[in-house]
Amino acid sequence: MRNIYVQGLTQNNLKNVSFNIPKEKITVFTGVSGSGKSSIVFDTIAAEAQRQMNATYPPFVRSRLPKYPKPAVERIENLTAAVVVDQSPLGGNARSTVGTISGLYSSLRLLFSRIGRPYAGTASFFSFNDPNGMCKTCSGLGRITKVDVEAIIDLNKSWNEGCVRDSLYRPGSWYWKQYAKSGLFDLDKPVKEYSDEEYNLLLYGSRDGKGEPENPKVTGLFHKYTKTLLNRDISGKSKHTQEKAVNLTAEMECGDCHGQRLNEAALNCKIDGYSIADMCGMELTRLRAVLARISDPTVGVLVQTIIEGLDRMIEIGLPYLHLNRETPSLSGGEAQRLKLVRYMGSSLSGLTYIFDEPSAGMHPRDVYRMNNLLRQLRDKGNTVLVVEHDRDVISIADYVIDVGPRAGQDGGEIVFAGSYQDLRKSGTLTGKAMLQSLPVKQTPRRPVGSLPVRNACLHNLKHIDVDIPLGVMTVVTGVAGSGKSTLISRVFASQYEKDIVMVDQGPITATSRSTPASYLGFFDEIRKLLAQENNQSESLFSFNSTGACPVCGGKGVIVTELAYMDPIVTECEACNGLRYNQEALACTYKGKNIVELLGMTASQAMEVFKDSRIRKHLKKMEQVGLSYLTLGQPLSTLSGGERQRIKLAKKLGKKGGIIVMDEPTTGLHMSDIQYLLKLFDLIVSQGNTLVVIEHNLDVIKQADWVIDIGPDGGNNGGEVVFVGTPAQMVRSADTLTADSLRASCE
Ligand code: ADP
Ligand code: ADP
Ligand code: ZN
Ligand code: ZN
Repeated sequence: MRNIYVQGLTQNNLKNVSFNIPKEKITVFTGVSGSGKSSIVFDTIAAEAQRQMNATYPPFVRSRLPKYPKPAVERIENLTAAVVVDQSPLGGNARSTVGTISGLYSSLRLLFSRIGRPYAGTASFFSFNDPNGMCKTCSGLGRITKVDVEAIIDLNKSWNEGCVRDSLYRPGSWYWKQYAKSGLFDLDKPVKEYSDEEYNLLLYGSRDGKGEPENPKVTGLFHKYTKTLLNRDISGKSKHTQEKAVNLTAEMECGDCHGQRLNEAALNCKIDGYSIADMCGMELTRLRAVLARISDPTVGVLVQTIIEGLDRMIEIGLPYLHLNRETPSLSGGEAQRLKLVRYMGSSLSGLTYIFDEPSAGMHPRDVYRMNNLLRQLRDKGNTVLVVEHDRDVISIADYVIDVGPRAGQDGGEIVFAGSYQDLRKSGTLTGKAMLQSLPVKQTPRRPVGSLPVRNACLHNLKHIDVDIPLGVMTVVTGVAGSGKSTLISRVFASQYEKDIVMVDQGPITATSRSTPASYLGFFDEIRKLLAQENNQSESLFSFNSTGACPVCGGKGVIVTELAYMDPIVTECEACNGLRYNQEALACTYKGKNIVELLGMTASQAMEVFKDSRIRKHLKKMEQVGLSYLTLGQPLSTLSGGERQRIKLAKKLGKKGGIIVMDEPTTGLHMSDIQYLLKLFDLIVSQGNTLVVIEHNLDVIKQADWVIDIGPDGGNNGGEVVFVGTPAQMVRSADTLTADSLRASCE
């Protein structure tokens, strides 16, 4: 049984394909975005492996496991248990750190309980998630949320001038009178001139800031806002209240543990002068060096295990992380690499490992390390499946399955299967793209101005100054952890918050029923056309309104809840899943009813609609390379790359914007990237500014301006190591990015 065999696969856009995947080999799935790679690897192979595993549990357990629908496939043979190593976020809360998720924190706790001095207890006394170890003030979070006094009070103003910013307290109002008529304040004195006593009265209602309020109507603004904004669950309150809570409170370091999360006893216990919190705040390379100096033979094996764990993280390109880093703040690529490290430690074999673009977020310099880890997994006897676009990763494939020829309905076939060498001769889009890389731009645009960022020092940034040029495309480069996201997505973006739009690959925040037509805003126009043509009201063509099928209420499906079992979802028999009632479906425009109109792809719709208000949007879909999507496809089914492009489509035709993108090539095929670059060109020529964080060398070569951050990651990064045009970079820069760029020009 040397192959996994898949027969008759029709999931999503796949056109009844059958193929083999060699076991215990590295197979890379290639093809343009939307061609059907994820439909094969995630929706079919991973889902079926998981479904078969779940089917072995009793129904009671099964009803508590995630649901995997049966893929549309005739037969799959020789599947093994599958492990998906994707870019979804790791863990969800502030209690989950790189240390807890990797298991290294529990090993460190054990180490401190054995040889830390003075002795503090057993291992739970070092856990910030355990009442024995946690700092009581912040419950082990390291930070606390407090009312932000200066956000509430304008210190330069007096009561008569309206010192409380909240309009509830404007002079003359009921709330204002409670304070103003208390006799406790000089109504003309600006707050900044208050004595300590007056200030305490204002904030806490008492002169010492601790006791009972002097006047029951003046309980203190700090207490008052703490009560209304922090000490109750406001998640169900109005948007206004929630915004107020965000604006009037600030998260700050816990004053008792200084962000170290642990109580005093735990923090006093040390090894070689370092507490467990000190160690967790060190970059992994430094921590490794500190641990390597421990000579106590009773903990030799334990220390060795921790060092091996650290080495794996360092190997895979995460040397700049520290164990105290909260996992929700990791990028998708970093999360995926941490997951990979967890599996590398296991000695299981005979599994199928599935990766989603493992090169995401990686500088070309680091890709080879990850390639080695993929090879190690294979050599332990596992089957490794990788969805990838990166030339260097594709080159290590034992077997390549190229899906295409294009996206959506124009894709869904296996256009090539075989060795990497043969792929290069295959003539497919991927095969051809492997052979050509883009040239360096010789005539970059000139900026029309610039936005300064001064003395940036968040995270690892070393008080740097940069000017972001306007009216051109700037690419920000540097190895992982050098500080690109911190500089652009955090510092620059918050400084120029009002002028910037961030266009990412994340989910589109719209309702689950959103479609390209509703998201871009031309669904209304289609409804208008139908209404005019048939002399009906527009609401008849909305499945949320009078047009809804009366049986399913516009859902298209009937859900039957069963106790202890999966709910049963069946297509609505009244409307056959079409969501609309008969009256709505009887109306047509150019011979097509609403469902048929929404079932057209954007390019088909171009033939049908002559209305310029609709064509304008269809044209945008075409410009971003999404003319193969149907007008009614739920946005929730789009891939990350497709999502990012439809967001860009919404921005097209506007002027003077500053668009920031973090790794826009993620999920994109080399030929998609050329398309994306044309789109970037269009956006900039329409008078916009683009700032792009990117590792892809083709994108860097086509920039007007490059800002390179480095020289390396973490503490060894955070400086501007080069600014200039890509041609200047190739010619004269002495940085890691310049080295990679030169190598790719040879
Ligand atoms: P790739 O992984 O190659 O980028 P996908 O397998 O994600 O492509 O998608 C292939 C095609 O199927 C795309 O046109 C995509 O929009 C479509 N598609 C993906 N998921 C769904 C779904 N749940 N329902 C309908 N269409 C889908
Ligand atoms: P890049 O975008 O170049 O990969 P980042 O800006 O993400 O780099 O990271 C730069 C440095 O800042 C790294 O050492 C990283 O660990 C650190 N860092 C990033 N985000 C956070 C955070 N939320 N908390 C603490 N440190 C962070
Ligand atoms: Zn604390
Ligand atoms: Zn129905």
